[in-house]
Amino acid sequence: MNISTQSDLIARDLAHVWHPCTQMRDHDPANPAMPMIPIRRGNGVWLEDFNGKRYLDSISSWWTNLFGHANPRIGAAIKSQLDQLEHVMLAGFTHEPAIKLSEQLTKLAPAGLTRCFYAENGSAAIEIAAKMSFHFWQNVDKRNKRRFITLTNSYHGETLGALALGNVELYKQIYQPLLMDVISAPSPDCFNREVGETEAAYSHRMIEPMRTLLQQHADEVCAVIVEPLVQCAGNMRMYHPIYLKLLRQACDEFGVHLIADEIAVGFGRTGTLFACEQASIRPDFMCLSKGLTGGFLPLSAVLTTEQIYAAFYAEYTSLRAFLHSHSYTGNPLACTAALATLDIFATEPVIANNQILSEHLRKRTESLKDHLHVVDVRQHGMICAIELIKNKATGEQYDWHERRGLRIYQYGMQHGVLLRPIGNVVYFMPPYVITIDEINLMVDTAVQGINHATCE
Ligand SMILES: *Cc1c(COP(=O)(O)O)cnc(C)c1O
Repeated sequence: MNISTQSDLIARDLAHVWHPCTQMRDHDPANPAMPMIPIRRGNGVWLEDFNGKRYLDSISSWWTNLFGHANPRIGAAIKSQLDQLEHVMLAGFTHEPAIKLSEQLTKLAPAGLTRCFYAENGSAAIEIAAKMSFHFWQNVDKRNKRRFITLTNSYHGETLGALALGNVELYKQIYQPLLMDVISAPSPDCFNREVGETEAAYSHRMIEPMRTLLQQHADEVCAVIVEPLVQCAGNMRMYHPIYLKLLRQACDEFGVHLIADEIAVGFGRTGTLFACEQASIRPDFMCLSKGLTGGFLPLSAVLTTEQIYAAFYAEYTSLRAFLHSHSYTGNPLACTAALATLDIFATEPVIANNQILSEHLRKRTESLKDHLHVVDVRQHGMICAIELIKNKATGEQYDWHERRGLRIYQYGMQHGVLLRPIGNVVYFMPPYVITIDEINLMVDTAVQGINHATCE
């Protein structure tokens, strides 16, 4: 409970733990760019280290947390499930949490998504959706359909299939020789629209290259995969719902599936329960994870239609079944956490309250548009991003070697706010239990951090 506990844990950690998405040398205790921070407890939007110092988790611990750390309702539900059944394999067996969760997800999702397949993380959900789409076309004897169309600047996870479908160079480039070949269509990311061009007009313009690719490759393409409305890992770039509507029409026209990766944007992040709702579309596959358990336990789900399901339903000897599994598929504890999370959505005015919070966030960040080094402030509901630039007039970017975002991270940690910029983009994706005062603290600290990081 003191400095020595803190430093003891850091030393023991660095002796054995290899951290995700990390250049471990950044934690070198001799001169850490990012000092390792052991966390002893969480409460609401706050994380607390072993010195009692608190950090406002403005990014919801990698976009997973919805209703606060150590949320008592979700915690209590998991505890009671623990005494009943911790796990049973979902092949040949079932349990109430998986049944109830499937009933509720299919009720909440766009109408027609009637089937749920489970895994433990987002990347696995992407692999499942891709395999199911491919396998569907095999089962209906369209055997040439074996490729996927993805958007530039997209992100779908880190396993080899998911990595191939994504498009963020930083994560992908070195592994390129291992990855399947995908067809890439330009992102409808509204940051790139011409001066004076409306988001709607830009969306109509950007569907054209996608339509051309669909037309050219319809015979060999299984599915188009997109992150609806926000390309989160791709610098929080955002686009308009009209693009999704046009994309759905194009996929129907050319006989190609649409996979909606709602892993980051699902569960209220963009202002509706699912981002697809804003375009009134139903994808053929919808991938969910991250917020699904309120940030408590690893779980993902792939929702799909009766039509897809039916193509796998046949005599055993037809060998049409989807023989994919993970050891912890549909884990009862994780499903229980998800049910408790959905129960909060059902019993509290979460979406309406988020509207108030996101409106406040919008007002508090609006004036940053005039900042000397801010080129864009954009928001979809509870995701707000501030893009930095070296020279607004010339469009010159900060050299990535300078690690300006790291300076903001460091400033934030010193001042009790966890900000984790992606490149030169500072963003907020806070838990929904954040208060107005906490939003003010979060934004004020970020602005000071931006000033600090851009002052020379
Ligand atoms: C995080 C993320 C994934 C991958 O999920 P993991 O659980 O980290 O494997 C996939 N797609 C999107 C849009 C994500 O944000």
